Amino acid sequence: EEVVNRIAAGEIVQRPANALKELIENSLDAHSTNIIITVKAGGLKYIQIQDNGTGIRHDNLDIVCERFTTSKLSQYEDLQAISTYGFRGEALASISHIAHLTILTKTANDKCAYKASYENGKLIGPIKPCAGNNGTQITIEDLFYNVPARKRALRSPTEEYAHMMEVVGGYAIHNSAVGFTLKKFAESTDIKTPIKSSVIENVRIIHGNSIARELLEIHLVEPTLRMSLHGYITNVNYSHKKGAMLLFINHRLVDSSSIRKAVDCVYATYLPKNAHSYVYLSLELDPKNVDVNVHPTKHEVQFLYEEQIIDKLKTAIESKLLSCNT
Ligand code: ADP
Ligand code: MG
Repeated sequence: EEVVNRIAAGEIVQRPANALKELIENSLDAHSTNIIITVKAGGLKYIQIQDNGTGIRHDNLDIVCERFTTSKLSQYEDLQAISTYGFRGEALASISHIAHLTILTKTANDKCAYKASYENGKLIGPIKPCAGNNGTQITIEDLFYNVPARKRALRSPTEEYAHMMEVVGGYAIHNSAVGFTLKKFAESTDIKTPIKSSVIENVRIIHGNSIARELLEIHLVEPTLRMSLHGYITNVNYSHKKGAMLLFINHRLVDSSSIRKAVDCVYATYLPKNAHSYVYLSLELDPKNVDVNVHPTKHEVQFLYEEQIIDKLKTAIESKLLSCNT
């Protein structure tokens, strides 16, 4: 059974950036305002995330890594009202099957912090009282130590770190009220955004001023499609060496090849050849219309009324670009 769990976990967490994304979402769910991430060897040796959120009650520490353990489900009598990222109770469990996981946590009511270590979904050893700040620190060591095939499939720590930068950068831009730090252990701080920043300021910090100064804000509400859109897109006056699309649907970082195509298609008519756009979109849809049960690794999201929604989105981007360039 352990092997089966391990294989399942390896499917959910395919690379360090997947694990990190789950951990960041947990920290955001816990109302953290500052999140500090430290990485060694592209996350394969070590990922540590420190937040200042609610913490985990120490009487829950023995079960947090069991599958389907979630403190969030009770809030979901109405699945349509999902407001937190997590609801499967699978992330910590999965990670504990393929790495050494340690939690150090303190709630505001606790007099001291508590530390616990996990393997294969289970607590190992005693829960130890120790010193610590309010919030939670999760440390993941030797990811995929027992899944050699998965480890071999990953190309290099540098590439894995680049994926982690993308995830942290994306969440930092989307959650600009929360401070994010990403650093390589004992080497460099690669992302640092302040608490209570703004989207534009964080784009500046992460992607540079040439993109940030050119951002145009877009806003759209379509009650009949139960959608609202807020975002920033670059104008077409300057060409960027590297383009990017950052897409959040209901505050989850996702990918949609159809949205990507639509955006590229609009810009193709305006941008000179080999120039790139930077596009950040936050799309809120009726959770009923979004497939929330897609596999956690399935970045690719599915939603209803795709064609109509993409149509509105294209129109919004197009008219913004037109109105600013005539
Ligand atoms: P889910 O997020 O789907 O509930 P997870 O496996 O990601 O499942 O986390 C399990 C539980 O552990 C959460 O429901 C939450 O109660 C607790 N937890 C995990 N990370 C944190 C954190 N950073 N701060 C507070 N609680 C946390
Ligand atoms: Mg979670």
